[in-house]
Amino acid sequence: MSVTAKEIRLASRPSGWPTDETFSFAEVELQSPGPGEVLVRNIFMSVDPYMRGRMNDVKSYVPPYELGKALEGGAVGEVIESGVDGVEPGTLVLHNAGWRSHALLSQYTRLTPIEGVSSSHFLGALGMPALTAYVGLLDIALFKPGETVFVSGAAGAVGSLVGQIAKLKGAARVIGSAGSEEKVTHLTNKLGYDAAFNYRDGKVNEQLAAAAPDGIDVYFDNVGGDHLEAALWSLNRNGRVAVCGTISSYNDEKPSPGPRNLHQIVSKRLTIRGFIILDHNDRFRAMISEVGPWLANGQLVAEETIVDGLDNAPTAFLDMLRGKNKGKMLVRL
Ligand code: NDP
Repeated sequence: MSVTAKEIRLASRPSGWPTDETFSFAEVELQSPGPGEVLVRNIFMSVDPYMRGRMNDVKSYVPPYELGKALEGGAVGEVIESGVDGVEPGTLVLHNAGWRSHALLSQYTRLTPIEGVSSSHFLGALGMPALTAYVGLLDIALFKPGETVFVSGAAGAVGSLVGQIAKLKGAARVIGSAGSEEKVTHLTNKLGYDAAFNYRDGKVNEQLAAAAPDGIDVYFDNVGGDHLEAALWSLNRNGRVAVCGTISSYNDEKPSPGPRNLHQIVSKRLTIRGFIILDHNDRFRAMISEVGPWLANGQLVAEETIVDGLDNAPTAFLDMLRGKNKGKMLVRL
């Protein structure tokens, strides 16, 4: 069998916010899989903040996307033709050839469907964002029951899971920040956050101090900038910060100034630790064994924002960077 696959390529490197000129569409012919390969039709693909970094030509923990080549990223696909004994058409696989309708793959992970759980969750509440939330909270921030946790980007893919995992593991109080009233209500009414605020409503340090009168013990940082500065003011002695991301600066054309209160790290004996989830795949089983049952029995809400159609993937990506998503932003193909 041969298929005509549609793919989205990096047409130019953006300076500041990506635009329509950043992306181009192309068609390629894919032949039948050879030995060891599978031909896959993608069902869901992920759009993630780290993809913005890969559009820049800079050295980082993953290589930059190549100009004129298809973009990459997490995707769930269905095998439509197989060159591997024991992998039948219909098998679901997780792989990194997103941003295209079909892919010929030699590297993929077979998925075991879970009854009643959408395969899209392997890109969210049972996938990389969940591992990030789990490892960041438990292994990096060394969260303990009875502590107060502050999460920025709290209504997004990672943040919405951090707060829920903290509550399920016995947090005394969980506080979240997000960029709209609707998200703030969602955090307290649906995700079990004890308090939440809209960072656009006023100074983050004042809103955080009001929400955490007794201070915070752990800060899970998805945002950086003024959020990190506010957290340093509110952290209690021996507090810990897991630095997961700094999305407030990803589209900056010049580096933004850092927190002005770094002396707090010394006086309060704080620990600030960054991490990259690729280094922690050994924790995947532990995460699945805890988060899987929470998801299956409804103790954990796995929110998703789903955009239909590969053609709309660039818009979905930009909308995620602008905050239009609640929970995991995905494209359904
Ligand atoms: P989200 O689902 O949280 O989507 C991004 C969110 O960022 C938006 O919804 C938006 O929500 C928020 N945002 C955008 N601009 C700003 C801003 N200027 N200030 C505050 N918030 C902003 O994405 P993920 O959950 O996938 O990722 C969250 C963070 O975790 C990112 O920083 C990402 O880079 C990082 N990450 C790090 C990993 C690692 O290995 N270290 C792995 C995975 C993710 P709002 O409406 O609230 O503004």
